[in-house]
Amino acid sequence: MQMIVKVQNLMADLSILFVVLFLLVIFIVFPRYSIVQEEWVNPHIKFKGPYSPGDPIIFSSNLSFEHIALNGIPFSQSPRKKETVYVGGLEVSSKEIPHISGYFASESSWWPFSHPKLKYFVIPLPFAQLPSLPSVKLKIKKSTWEKMDEKFDEQKKEERKLMRSLLKKVDGALGSTCWQMPVSSMIVSKFASPRTLPNGISYRHTGLDLRARTGAEILAAGPGQVIFRDHMIVPGNNILINHGEGLFSRYLHLSKFEVSLQDIVQPGEPIAKAGATGRVEAAHLHWEVVWKGRRLNPQKFTEDWNLYCQN
Ligand SMILES: [Zn+2]
Repeated sequence: MQMIVKVQNLMADLSILFVVLFLLVIFIVFPRYSIVQEEWVNPHIKFKGPYSPGDPIIFSSNLSFEHIALNGIPFSQSPRKKETVYVGGLEVSSKEIPHISGYFASESSWWPFSHPKLKYFVIPLPFAQLPSLPSVKLKIKKSTWEKMDEKFDEQKKEERKLMRSLLKKVDGALGSTCWQMPVSSMIVSKFASPRTLPNGISYRHTGLDLRARTGAEILAAGPGQVIFRDHMIVPGNNILINHGEGLFSRYLHLSKFEVSLQDIVQPGEPIAKAGATGRVEAAHLHWEVVWKGRRLNPQKFTEDWNLYCQN
């Protein structure tokens, strides 16, 4: 009889032990890998805003984000010692209200009872439409226009396709070097200004026109690699520099190239001489900054980037 009681007690002890072990497995192992608490938290990023089409969106944070994106497009990242600088921007023809979304991971309480937490956020950004200004009719010489009218549509299409594919690259690191203007002179046509071609087609200016006579030295705006250097119908002789992480700068209507394909350049390094090749009224530099296929305001980009740069 006593023996039976002992066995019963042992069974009870064992079942308690089993329950305790089971709970330990549930609370220690299982939750660490399977239960993710999701909560909405504002990461308190400082934004300048309001943002308009063509504006760069650049900020820094010391939180470690995952899948941080601007309207669903992942930001380019420039990691620094204690923080990361995030780079993005709005397309010049963009009409949608920009928003930033992402996750950041954090551990709650102490190990082994810590559960990974994913904090999720969506932040709408202040947005202002571009002012509607009267469109300027471009005065392009007949001899220039004839070199790029409908007869060349097929070739123009091929050239645009090639440029679009180059601008899809996201290779190379973004670095932290400060940028500069490619030529220090007057702005002769603002970014995003509305204009009309001799054939009646209207569009917003996708770059910044800087005064530059034929032969004036053109400098690289930022550090990067020359990934295109050739003639095209509308852009004329042009250079494309890859700055890494989907960021590019482009220099149009040049008269002479001073760099080769694949060359690595630093800001301020001469890359070409200005000219009047392609669809132009007169000699000048048309300068573009492109982030993941989106034309950004080059001057604003340089100013905003230089708030976070380090030489
Ligand atoms: Zn231009």
